[in-house]
Amino acid sequence: MIVYLILFSIGVLVVYRFNQEIKEGYAFAGRATAPLRSKVLPIPQAYQVILQKYFPFYNQLDNSEKNRFAQKVCNFMYGKRFIPRNINEVSIEARVLIAATAVQLTFGLTDNYLQHFNKILVYPDDYYSSITKRFHKGEVNPRFGIIVISWQSFIEGFIHPTDAVNLGLHEMAHALRLENMIRSEEYKFFDAELITEFDEHAMSLCQVTNWSDTFFRPYACANEHEFFSVAVENFFERPVEFKTTMPELYSILSKLLNQDPSLLPLPKPL
Ligand SMILES: [Zn+2]
Repeated sequence: MIVYLILFSIGVLVVYRFNQEIKEGYAFAGRATAPLRSKVLPIPQAYQVILQKYFPFYNQLDNSEKNRFAQKVCNFMYGKRFIPRNINEVSIEARVLIAATAVQLTFGLTDNYLQHFNKILVYPDDYYSSITKRFHKGEVNPRFGIIVISWQSFIEGFIHPTDAVNLGLHEMAHALRLENMIRSEEYKFFDAELITEFDEHAMSLCQVTNWSDTFFRPYACANEHEFFSVAVENFFERPVEFKTTMPELYSILSKLLNQDPSLLPLPKPL
């Protein structure tokens, strides 16, 4: 009896001493098994309600596509570490909607979950960077596999769904383009010729001098990465106008992402 008591006490001590490590190990195992868990576990009803309530793209899909979308959202969510900054926790709504934004962008691609970017930092509002000495709305850090989001700016992207400014899509697009370049299981999924063609179009479009006539906001021409992200924002927020104004560029992006949002039914007002 005394032996059992000693063993039990040691067990309790080990759990107490290594509580944090055990928790982290459990969370790590949870993330590593995200693809399996998202396939075998039922999609939580609460997630579907959040998508229905707040995510226009989800509501543009038919029922079987909605299911595939929600399952991909689970896979993305279960595979990432959501880290709160200057807030106590990242709410379920925030997790679902951030994951949904990544899934919207990658919906046409097979098994692409921005694997390299396994940490998502969420700030309540725009945050001050001691490195750049500026306030930021979001950024992507390939070195540490981090995507940073200001929740306030993320939400604003959805409050104005057709102004082609959407922080979530913008940052996810940066991550996607970098993911294509970073050696991992998900790597070189874009057709290299199409990317080159896309960048050539970007360069020629950015030679304009009269910005009042341009379809994209001038920031697109900061570099090829910004151009790609701004193009993605336009691709999803005003696809028909983009297709009409720049059919060739639209077609290249549509081939790269393997989807065409201009063919979806118009989004219902939320
Ligand atoms: Zn950017």
